[in-house]
Amino acid sequence: MSMQETKSTCPYCGVGCGVVIEHDGTQITGVRGDPDHPANFGRLCTKGTNLHLTATPVVIQHQRLREPAKRAARGATPEVISWEQANREIADKLLAIRAEHGPESIGIYISGQLLTEDYHAFNKLARAVLGTPHIDSNSRLCMSSAVVGYKQALGADAPPCSYEDIELADCILVSGANPAWAHPILFRRLEAARNGKPGHKLIVIDPRKTETAELADLHLQIRPGTDVALCHGLLHAVIWQGWTADKFIAQHTEGFDALKELVRDWAPSRAAQVCGVSEADIWQAAEWFATSPSALSLYCQGLNQSSSGTAKNTALINLHLATGQIGKPGAGPFSLTGQPNAMGGRESGGMATLLPGHRDPAKAEDWAEIEALWGVPGLPGKRGHTAVEMFEAAARGEIKALWIACTNPAQSMPDQATVRQALERCELVVLQEAFAHTATAKYADYLLPAATWGEKEGTVTNSERRISRVRPAVPAAGESRADWRIARDIGALVDAGLGRAPRIAADGAEDLWLEHRDATRGRDLDITGLSWATLDADGPQQWPYVTGSTPRLYTDGRFATADGRARFITRPYQATAETTSPQRPFALTTGRMRDQWHGMSRSGSVPKLFAHEGRPLVRINPGDAAAAKLAEGELVHVRSSRGAVVLPIKLDENIAPAGADIAMHWGDEFIGAQLGINAVTHGAFCPDSKQPELKFSAVAIEPA
Ligand code: SF4
Repeated sequence: MSMQETKSTCPYCGVGCGVVIEHDGTQITGVRGDPDHPANFGRLCTKGTNLHLTATPVVIQHQRLREPAKRAARGATPEVISWEQANREIADKLLAIRAEHGPESIGIYISGQLLTEDYHAFNKLARAVLGTPHIDSNSRLCMSSAVVGYKQALGADAPPCSYEDIELADCILVSGANPAWAHPILFRRLEAARNGKPGHKLIVIDPRKTETAELADLHLQIRPGTDVALCHGLLHAVIWQGWTADKFIAQHTEGFDALKELVRDWAPSRAAQVCGVSEADIWQAAEWFATSPSALSLYCQGLNQSSSGTAKNTALINLHLATGQIGKPGAGPFSLTGQPNAMGGRESGGMATLLPGHRDPAKAEDWAEIEALWGVPGLPGKRGHTAVEMFEAAARGEIKALWIACTNPAQSMPDQATVRQALERCELVVLQEAFAHTATAKYADYLLPAATWGEKEGTVTNSERRISRVRPAVPAAGESRADWRIARDIGALVDAGLGRAPRIAADGAEDLWLEHRDATRGRDLDITGLSWATLDADGPQQWPYVTGSTPRLYTDGRFATADGRARFITRPYQATAETTSPQRPFALTTGRMRDQWHGMSRSGSVPKLFAHEGRPLVRINPGDAAAAKLAEGELVHVRSSRGAVVLPIKLDENIAPAGADIAMHWGDEFIGAQLGINAVTHGAFCPDSKQPELKFSAVAIEPA
């Protein structure tokens, strides 16, 4: 067959790079960066460059789930069954559980890896077909604190910036993020921007000395969890020096006096003590940020994965509002999303705390609008369980059936003992997945093979609100089907069982996208001027798109609140949910490796991606190791109050004293007969965003 090329999008991170898939119509043979895509202009990182190696015949043969399968009993080997049998049996079991225990006994747990069209189908499946409010996404672990931070301070869940602001900024503050590893193409843009701009300032706030921090003019190596104290100290310095944008504050904001009162006691000397950094560095950072012509902040899980995640987000946004560093080129608070379509999930409202088109499940009028749009009366009318809450409800026996799509909670959720207890207790676990050997697959009663990258059709939205097309190059492996189609087909059988017409009536992904588009009409993310034809002809576009793409928000100083004024959010600094003690003296953080992705279900299929780091390790400071008489490579127990893992020690000067760090990717298969690193982590979550505190666990580290 002749060689062909298909333009699509990388399925890994929220940078959302465009790719050109090389194939012969049956097999993917290569991949390269799309020179026309405005996220990456042809560049790809190591993960993206090797994407085609995740779709080889060997990977498809040995690692993909290719046929529907069923377990006769828990622990039994799955037996291949037909789609017809799988769909019928799952629909019958859902109907039976729903009839006996009510709609709220069913939970749907989905993924920021899904396409916007898949999200829309699952949202209708949960709320319109099954009638349960309990739908949430693994994006809860990723960006829900950023969502709530934007909504509270600016009035809408809308990152106001564009990637081009990286080139335009005079000062960049990176907080709780390591783009050198987690968003490599943005880091390349940052490096290039610095090279071309003498006097450019880069400030990095991170408890670890990362590759990003190595590039910084100033690295504030704070104690884990003290970000709010640092922002209060920075703001105190800004106010003390008279660097506030007084006209902007007066014309465009509310609540500055209360915030001034809050930070009055946060002199840089006090913040320095709490955060473990020098007072002079706080003054310096405040000066660069406030007095630069334009200052941009880039932030990610270090702020989000926290029991005070929303407070961390709003404390940083306060700094932007107080200095007027927002709504102009090169300035603004820019949350980087982890997953390729966390944004699309937010837009389509496929989460417990969101409704389509950035509507709010706490508002009856928003439910009424969705009922009218979908033509379905009697939607649940309330917020459902978020991720941690959903698994806790299942562990208590309240949720009886869990349908999981495109994610691996038996590895990725915190406090694994509780999560696995929940999966064991459920009467029905349905797993819809592309890859066969995930930790969650062991708990599934039904395994449904899902199409994946290179086989799927739809759209995704990246961190800068840019919607890109995802296109299929080859047929789906084996009997795999598109995620939206699996939800639609089982949903239709449930609807039939309830004596009504199908409520997910779509013949293709574009039908679902058009329904999603309708839900944005008149909203902050209005895309009613956009179509797939426009995306195909003109390339990726940024929302809102009524008459054209929108690179930057709030340029007129009018925010998305009812009165158009941004809000200073006054939140005191709070310590982490648990603190270190003589029994558990180390503050454990988790983070990414450069070349791996999440639970490695895809990236782990490429041997060369292990060349950068090939085995799980716990990194600690050499001084701590010497004090505890621990040597490089020695096996240790890393133990929290929830569980323990055994890992070799790696001595690392980049980890601060009393700190420890483990890459997030390693699961059971790499750490022996244990629960992976999330045996140790904490399920405590932010009261506003419900995002769990994966970035801080108090642990003991002792010889094994
Ligand atoms: Fe893919 Fe992210 Fe790498 Fe771009 S930066 S190639 S989106 S993993």
